[in-house]
Amino acid sequence: GSTLVLKDLHVSIEDKEILKGVNLEIKPGEFHAIMGPNGAGKSTLASAIMGHPAYEVTSGSVTLDGQDVLEMEVDERAKAGLFLAMQYPSEISGVTNADFIRSSINARREEGNEIPLMQFIKKLDKTMEYLEMDLNMAQRYVNEGFSGGEKKRNEILQLMMLEPSIAILDEIDSGLDIDALKVVAKGINSMRSEDFSCLMITHYQRLLNYITPDYVHVMMNGRIVKSGGPELAKRLEEEGYEWIKEELGIKD
Ligand code: ADP
Ligand code: MG
Ligand code: MG
Repeated sequence: GSTLVLKDLHVSIEDKEILKGVNLEIKPGEFHAIMGPNGAGKSTLASAIMGHPAYEVTSGSVTLDGQDVLEMEVDERAKAGLFLAMQYPSEISGVTNADFIRSSINARREEGNEIPLMQFIKKLDKTMEYLEMDLNMAQRYVNEGFSGGEKKRNEILQLMMLEPSIAILDEIDSGLDIDALKVVAKGINSMRSEDFSCLMITHYQRLLNYITPDYVHVMMNGRIVKSGGPELAKRLEEEGYEWIKEELGIKD
């Protein structure tokens, strides 16, 4: 497993500071959830960790097992074991899902040690069945014409195929009906081990009814303002975010 550490992370977009000092440590095997109102900076956090060029880290650090993630190119971050499921997964025209996943797996392996084709196909079939996906989705172009729910399921397919050491899942629950949500949760839960940790970013508590996080953090105005266990998410579901603002004396 790997340990991801964020220290006093500040991130700006177009010279506007969005993240104002985020501290977080995710240890091997841990599941963390970040919740927070719209505009709090949750997606900014995910994008900054993955190295999206629009997000400028102005100070602070991100390390993976002590290695400086911010010094890494985007593909090096994936190779180091980081995985990001974006809030809005992009379409890749002309590249089939199967080819995309296979090259992503191989990009993480040494040259000459590529995954054997038959082994890949078997694993892909098995995983798609597990996620109750239509097998012909493997031959379609990545996310092209996929429904919102199919895109989210497809992100979990990539996750299970790539077996990263740390996954950041941004609103993996948004736009899912209850059956799709259960399948997505089943996929994420199947990854649980000492070799895998997960940061789930979500606006709603619903996902956490199916995946119990070890830690829950609340993000507001670019900072983590409160941390706790699963009970914190339940209270947010029942009472919203207002009580935290009052507790902390935040006015808006
Ligand atoms: P959340 O995911 O918590 O809803 P975001 O990280 O998407 O929040 O957004 C945080 C803030 O950053 C918002 O005020 C949003 O308008 C702003 N923001 C996000 N992306 C961009 C961008 N590409 N350009 C300018 N502002 C942005
Ligand atoms: Mg949002
Ligand atoms: Mg977001």
